[in-house]
Amino acid sequence: MRLRQSGAAMKVGAEQRMHVAVIGAGIVGVSVALSLRREGFAVTLIDRQGPGEGTSFGNAAMISPDIVVPMTSPGIVRQVPGMLLDPLGPLRIRWRHLPRLTPYLLRVLAASRKSRIESTSAAMAALARGAVEAYSPLARMADAEDMIRRTGRINLFESEEEFRTSRWKLELERRRGLHFEVLDAAELRQLEPSLAPIFPRAVFYPDTAQSVNNFRFVQVLADALQRHGGRSLRAEVLDFDLDANGNVAAVETDDGREPCDAVVVAAGAWSRPLARRLGANPPLETERGYHLTIGDPGVMPRIPFGSNRRGFSCTPLEHGLRVAGTVELADLEAAPDWRRADVLMTHVRRLLPGVQDRETTRWMGHRPGLPDSVPVISPSPLHRNAYFAFGHGHFGLCLGARTGQLVTALVAGRDPGIDMTPYRIDRFRTRGR
Ligand SMILES: Cc1cc2nc3c(=O)[nH]c(=O)nc-3n(C[C@H](O)[C@H](O)[C@H](O)COP(=O)(O)OP(=O)(O)OC[C@H]3O[C@@H](n4cnc5c(N)ncnc54)[C@H](O)[C@@H]3O)c2cc1C
Repeated sequence: MRLRQSGAAMKVGAEQRMHVAVIGAGIVGVSVALSLRREGFAVTLIDRQGPGEGTSFGNAAMISPDIVVPMTSPGIVRQVPGMLLDPLGPLRIRWRHLPRLTPYLLRVLAASRKSRIESTSAAMAALARGAVEAYSPLARMADAEDMIRRTGRINLFESEEEFRTSRWKLELERRRGLHFEVLDAAELRQLEPSLAPIFPRAVFYPDTAQSVNNFRFVQVLADALQRHGGRSLRAEVLDFDLDANGNVAAVETDDGREPCDAVVVAAGAWSRPLARRLGANPPLETERGYHLTIGDPGVMPRIPFGSNRRGFSCTPLEHGLRVAGTVELADLEAAPDWRRADVLMTHVRRLLPGVQDRETTRWMGHRPGLPDSVPVISPSPLHRNAYFAFGHGHFGLCLGARTGQLVTALVAGRDPGIDMTPYRIDRFRTRGR
């Protein structure tokens, strides 16, 4: 980090004149940038790739306002040893990376304690409430309201036993006030006839929405930013330039210096080195996931569905059937293990009879994971005009627009309407910066 002793005084006048640099053009950064622009801020969105070409390219496209169960719940953690026995199962740790991952895994274990789950779940619920509606003003600016549909989603159970072991999750969801319907085999068949008749139970969440094309959605939001007077810059951010008061005066990129009045770090799984430059050291790791997009599947479900046991979900998109999921813990640079994508075909064949493997593409992406499943949406404790918005893990599309609303409120100095303490970057006790 370069300290500019001579630094000019920060120009923060009317919001219209305040220039915010947003780093990262994934769904989170693009939503933040467009929300800020909507309120009159001058915005420059900076990414080394095109919009949506990071993790936001290949997710399962689901926007669930009903995410209240942390990935680290005791019920899930108990199943981990069994899952790890299968190298192609829903969870895999690449053992070579274990020494580096151990501190993260210990934090995951700590976060999965029963005493922590209640507060984590409350923090997730407060974020996710209104997640679908939060996209409306952004989609309107992009003329893309038809890209989000309220389809609901189905969670499938292949045995009564599997359903029974998920009861705690349903109870937690009920306590948080979520809407869902428990279905028997006949009711499921009526709701989604394309599914195999092998599920004694299912749960339908009617409030879940989906994007018809998550990648195109990020692109049209980014286009809207430019149309509405924002700027986009294709460059890699390397560092920050501070003024004499310790405020960020400019973002340093491989394409030059970008002066700004405030900065938002929204670089997904790659945010840690940038946060470090600003004196924070969040325990951010990547939880890698895979997808298949089947261009011509022959059969298309009406409603997205998923299986927790198999760790994947299926979403009908405008350009094919997206089969996405599984978690693989390894470094950002580790090569993909394409067997993990290919095995998704075996899973989907079991759940969706008649599905064809035609015009299929494979992808691997990096979920930005934090040990407690709660993203960082936070001002910097050290630099008055720096903000963080990353670590959305499995829920970046769900929470993109909500994150945009909250960051915009923080930058504008307004009350965000919810207690922001659970999302602060300094909630993690980390040694060394
Ligand atoms: C298989 C799978 C299925 C998923 N399904 C869902 C789902 O159904 N619903 C859901 O809500 N979420 C889902 N997710 C999670 C979701 O995709 C992520 O949470 C989300 O994409 C994260 O968005 P982001 O904007 O934070 O990061 P990204 O989309 O990764 O964007 C970060 C951007 O920052 C840029 N960047 C990084 N460093 C720099 C730098 N130094 N300079 C310039 N640019 C930089 C990158 O180029 C990138 O474009 C899924 C993920 C996977 C892997």
